[in-house]
Amino acid sequence: MTLVSLAQATYVVAAVLFILSLAGLAKEDTAKRGNILGMIGMGLALAATVVLALEQSERSVLVTALLIAGVFLIGITVGMWRARTVEMTQMPELIAMLHSFVGLAAVLVGFNSYLEADHADAVHQVEVFLGVFIGAITFTGSIVAYLKLSAKMKSSPLTLPGRNLLNMGAVVVSLGLMGWFLTTGAFADDSAGLIPLIIMTIIALVLGFHLVAAIGGGDMPVVVSMLNSYSGWAAAAAGLMLENDLLIVTGALVGSSGAILSYIMCKAMNRAFLSVILGGFGATATAASSAGPQGDHREVKSPEAAELLAGARSVVIVPGYGMAVAKAQYPVAELVENLRSHGVEVRFGVHPVAGRLPGHMNVLLAEAKVPYDIVLEMDEINDDFPETDVVLVIGANDVVNPSAMEDPGSPLAGMPVLEVWNAKQCIVFKRSMATGYAGVQNPLFFRENTAMLFGDAKAQVEEIVTSLRTQQGVGA
Ligand code: NDP
Repeated sequence: MTLVSLAQATYVVAAVLFILSLAGLAKEDTAKRGNILGMIGMGLALAATVVLALEQSERSVLVTALLIAGVFLIGITVGMWRARTVEMTQMPELIAMLHSFVGLAAVLVGFNSYLEADHADAVHQVEVFLGVFIGAITFTGSIVAYLKLSAKMKSSPLTLPGRNLLNMGAVVVSLGLMGWFLTTGAFADDSAGLIPLIIMTIIALVLGFHLVAAIGGGDMPVVVSMLNSYSGWAAAAAGLMLENDLLIVTGALVGSSGAILSYIMCKAMNRAFLSVILGGFGATATAASSAGPQGDHREVKSPEAAELLAGARSVVIVPGYGMAVAKAQYPVAELVENLRSHGVEVRFGVHPVAGRLPGHMNVLLAEAKVPYDIVLEMDEINDDFPETDVVLVIGANDVVNPSAMEDPGSPLAGMPVLEVWNAKQCIVFKRSMATGYAGVQNPLFFRENTAMLFGDAKAQVEEIVTSLRTQQGVGA
């Protein structure tokens, strides 16, 4: 067996490991195994790619090896540094940034492939054009997502007049440029096709920016999963251009799983899949309901909250982004253990878009070793709120906003939410009366059965646990 065929066989093994990894990641109890399989697959893929590069390079083995080592060194240093320093709450923006790298890589591979390859091969020309197109959209779209997720850019939607026409126009012009590109490439052996390729790249870069800028804060989860999908298709396109089978398979896996995730997110948020792909679907609503406070709110302190909990039979905890910011999951797990050991039924209600990443809350709760069987999804718990004595809303805001159901003018209108206001008592943990990610005021805070518990969620939950222990005679 030659080294090249050994590397190709390793690619097949790596592809199977990636598929098994995805299957493992689908459930909490197999997620660790899925991650490990993915890492082994990536290790094998890298090793096989190095072997292929050394075998097929036109340069000397030493120069190729040094170039690869240099790239590895830079990648490993930056990757390890970011992985060590990134906070859990910064993960979404880091992922958006990584998506932008995939897009940029597809653009660069496309240009390189055009300059190096045979221009008369029409199929290859189409691969180059589409690869650069998808890559450029993914690149700028992901940068805007990064800026919005890290609050470096306003999360409110950019609503240019006739924006759908602008998007359609960009696609139509790009198709025309593809015609120009293909005919130029077929009849000339110089680089004449670069002109339409460069014009299309600029249009695609602007289109990527506009598609994501047009989407409002509350609808960002779909954008994150959609860009995940786009980055997969960009990688698959790069794989076609480089004639790398593993990159095609991996890109297709990421592209299709991202598309399925986007579809699931759309369903959870009651949005139309097609309008998401076209961008700007959240922009029709007005921001009228985002104006300041709407009435009087009631406040409680942690000892009163502890008393209420001690007297409750059933408690539901609704976690949100603020729980992640405060790293409150550990005291929350302690609180749950305490209440359950005193006969209180405690469950979690998790909204599909709570936090800043799909599955964000589930990861945090699993990290704090909260049992899976008491962590329920929105649809599983929503009917149980009327029989619930106390709901603790810990750092959640948009996902418990009744205006999503009651105010057709709200930017959140139509999104199903956790109907916590139907419980007997609702305590909202947050630091101020500020709005959530979508910038929409929350009428829940002014309901009669709602009380606000101001302060950092971690500190407040810790105080409640201490108060409970004191009341239970365990001591602080
Ligand atoms: P929100 O962002 O709506 O609200 C979080 C709340 O937490 C804020 O109101 C904030 O209030 C509070 N908070 C922040 N820090 C603390 C702290 N240290 N202690 C106590 N409270 C704190 O979160 P939700 O989870 O309810 O909703 C998620 C939002 O993010 C949705 O709009 C969703 O569409 C969007 N999104 C979700 C993504 C996903 O994939 N899940 C991706 C991108 C966006 P205060 O400042 O007063 O403390």
